[in-house]
Amino acid sequence: MRHDALNRASQVFLIILLISTAGIALILAQVLGLGWSDAGGLRPPGIVAAAWDRDVALISGHAGYDSGAVCEDATGAVTLTEAEVNAQIAALTAERLRRVGASVVILDEYDERLQGLRAAVLLSLHADSCIDASGFKAAVHRYSIIPETNQRLLHCINTAYPAATGLPPHPNTVTHNMTEYHAFRRIAPTTPAAILEMGFLGGDRALLTEQPARVAKGVSDAILCFLESEKEKSNEQ
Ligand SMILES: [Zn+2]
Repeated sequence: MRHDALNRASQVFLIILLISTAGIALILAQVLGLGWSDAGGLRPPGIVAAAWDRDVALISGHAGYDSGAVCEDATGAVTLTEAEVNAQIAALTAERLRRVGASVVILDEYDERLQGLRAAVLLSLHADSCIDASGFKAAVHRYSIIPETNQRLLHCINTAYPAATGLPPHPNTVTHNMTEYHAFRRIAPTTPAAILEMGFLGGDRALLTEQPARVAKGVSDAILCFLESEKEKSNEQ
């Protein structure tokens, strides 16, 4: 009897050991970048090696400061604010990036933590005015000391974001406010950073408010594209 019980216990132990070994091997393979590739654009569930343990900072545009753009109806009642759109998409983006292993922080517009901020990437999320226009635009610091790195970030945004959202670029309205954005001067000069206007509260309202997960996918795909390009760069060196 005792012998039987002992035997069963060791069998159960062996099975648990096998399952956990397989699990650890799978996780290790993902972390080391040995996981299956991004075939067909469908990311495997779980950790993305290039994002693992990387510090990603998102600014929820206007948070803690003002409402940003404000849309009103004919009676002057507020129907939508930019800050609420930015906050929802920042939260969904953070969730996506944490799921693949990144360490994500969401910052206010003038967050104290911006001062000297060191991170793998900083992206500030904003939306454009309530006019009946459509499209996104992104900008990096005009006077960056890491212009090539920032160009790779910009390239990732300009390819991954429209691919996920279907939005066209709207580059003619990139302003000085964007290329000389206040956060660019606060963070550590070696932190790659960009500001993204995710769409217009007017013409892109349905996308921004009814499909925020799709917008968040665009933002997180852009960040993952950049982290992957940086990982490849560091592998080359
Ligand atoms: Zn804004």
